[in-house]
Amino acid sequence: MINAKDFMEMAQMFHGHKCPAMHMGLRTAAAAMNALGVERSKDSQLIAFVELGEGHFAHCFGDGIQVVTGCTFGKGNIRQLGYGKFGLILVEKATHRAVRVVPRGEVQLGTKQTPFFTQYREKGIPASAVPPEHIEPLIERIMSMPDEKLLKISEVFEYPLEDKEESFASFLCERCGDTVVEKYGRIFGDMHVCIPCYEELSSGRDGTE
Ligand SMILES: [Zn+2]
Ligand SMILES: [Zn+2]
Repeated sequence: MINAKDFMEMAQMFHGHKCPAMHMGLRTAAAAMNALGVERSKDSQLIAFVELGEGHFAHCFGDGIQVVTGCTFGKGNIRQLGYGKFGLILVEKATHRAVRVVPRGEVQLGTKQTPFFTQYREKGIPASAVPPEHIEPLIERIMSMPDEKLLKISEVFEYPLEDKEESFASFLCERCGDTVVEKYGRIFGDMHVCIPCYEELSSGRDGTE
């Protein structure tokens, strides 16, 4: 069994400040892993699809997911679905077994109606500048609530995954000299170049046109 509390210290250091959303990510991830009966992803054994969008509150959720599941930006096994929601679909790559876990709407609404949001975050004050007395009780509540009160956990279902091979092919851009993964290469005239160089050459911005 994965216990979200075991990851709090590491997650707070990684994330940079204390906030309720990151801890909600810890709980959501742990519940998803326990539903599937899987361990933390050492390589790409798990793939996480997070429903977050961009530029909205509680996006910190995604860091809690990364810490507990081991689905990280660096390993490339976390994807953003862009729905502006807080669901996690966690998939075991070998079996395509998946579960969707989402924080209960009433719990998230309860958090949004506290001073952490109404007196600080919504007025543009960063989480690191909010007094601890407005954060600690929220974290305590999220970390101690039973799974069934905090989260909606789906049945295990099958999730279709396309098998993408990891690419090792690369070349050096003939204009800037940077290493570029092969499939991101572009041809400009007789030059094999990177995307930014291609765009600059195409627009004539570097004066060579
Ligand atoms: Zn945060
Ligand atoms: Zn280049």
